[in-house]
Amino acid sequence: MKLSFHGAARSVTGSRHLLEMPGNRILLDCGLFQGQRQEADRQNRFLGFDPRSIQAVLLSHAHIDHSGALPVLGKHQFRGNVHMTRATVDLAAVMLEDSARLQENDCAYLNKKENRRGKRCLQPFYESRDARAIIRRFVGARYGDTIKVTPRVTASFHDVGHILGSAAIRLKYSARGNSTTVLFSGDLGRSQMPILRDPTPPPSCDVLIIESTYGDRLHEEAGEALTQKAQQLVAHAKEHKSKIIVPAFALGRTQDLVMRIKRLVAEGRIDPLPIYIDSPLASKVTDVFRKHPECYDEETFRTFTSEGDPFAARYIRYVSSPEESKRLNEMKGPCVIIASSGMCEGGRVVHHLKHGIQDEANIIAIVGFQAEHTLGRRLVEGWDVVPIFGIPTPRRAQVVVFNGLSAHADRNDLLAYVRAISPAPQQVFVVHGEEKQALSLGAAIQTEHPGMAVVVPAKDSIYEI
Ligand SMILES: [Zn+2]
Repeated sequence: MKLSFHGAARSVTGSRHLLEMPGNRILLDCGLFQGQRQEADRQNRFLGFDPRSIQAVLLSHAHIDHSGALPVLGKHQFRGNVHMTRATVDLAAVMLEDSARLQENDCAYLNKKENRRGKRCLQPFYESRDARAIIRRFVGARYGDTIKVTPRVTASFHDVGHILGSAAIRLKYSARGNSTTVLFSGDLGRSQMPILRDPTPPPSCDVLIIESTYGDRLHEEAGEALTQKAQQLVAHAKEHKSKIIVPAFALGRTQDLVMRIKRLVAEGRIDPLPIYIDSPLASKVTDVFRKHPECYDEETFRTFTSEGDPFAARYIRYVSSPEESKRLNEMKGPCVIIASSGMCEGGRVVHHLKHGIQDEANIIAIVGFQAEHTLGRRLVEGWDVVPIFGIPTPRRAQVVVFNGLSAHADRNDLLAYVRAISPAPQQVFVVHGEEKQALSLGAAIQTEHPGMAVVVPAKDSIYEI
């Protein structure tokens, strides 16, 4: 068997790993590379292998850095099935249609600008019709069921509590009376997350491919510390009639925040205040969440059976039209506006920042990871003047950073996951982490398990397993 890495190797974006067995080529994830334009162009137009030679894809979850290049496969004559959990089928469909639309709009905008300078025409990586074509090849499975992928390969999906539908994938290849099992962790979640069940213990495997997003870090702030910070924020907002602007990813983070706020209100820890979810994509994603109670944890399932809709409350409003979104600019606080994109690189949240950032009563609450060079990162770094739509804008609003809301396992969780595999795997590949994170986790696994062959693969490297 051969295993090669075509993305998210010593980096976190564009997850794509290829398994080759005699007569079988199976792809694990097919993520979009996100980064600077030229590099993204190179990485997303050429996937690093011939899509026609792939028999099937197994998808760990619907985040775009894991699923976002699937339509590129379809464009290049891939004719197999794409297997994933049932919730991931619905989520990935929404995400890919949105991704195609974003690319079409981006290219149209840039081409309009470039045309004036007589430059060449840009093409999106894929269009809506490519997204629709690959979505027709999606096949949904239940957690734990064994599915036949090819005559010699079976697979099963195991809940990892990262986002709705997220799974570790166990693949088994059988030939001439022997079998080899590979476990791909996808993105590992954490226990005690709202909505989701805790990660299930890992099944046995010969070879493990494990993520390392937080391979060198521990999540600090948790439980009571987080609650107290939220209480202070709401009290401040009530007193100063603040708008709390929260940049949040439409998939996962937004629903997680809604549930956390609802829980604090129900427990009487904070007073309810108007909450606007201003993201059409987040609304669509939340609709998918409503369709999949089979993925809920006990608390969310109880709300679902007693109240019907776990994501609704009288103080929560899902904003759809651009007009209503604009009206929020004129509105007085206290209120919370949750909008995407999560790193303030586009979307409605940038408009809310433009209108709200110069008012010292307002608060910008950062609740997720902010990559370098993004507007979100500049806010975290405390810049006094930030560029918004290219215009230097003074920041008077206060920035409050919440660490510890991550949906990713930290270093201790990752090490515990490896420890829980019985019998221990012989080979471990550490992927999906910046180099420092991946190398650090790899070294820690090696120290704990001297008998394992631990590798931190570079991009496009190939290994015999
Ligand atoms: Zn993810």
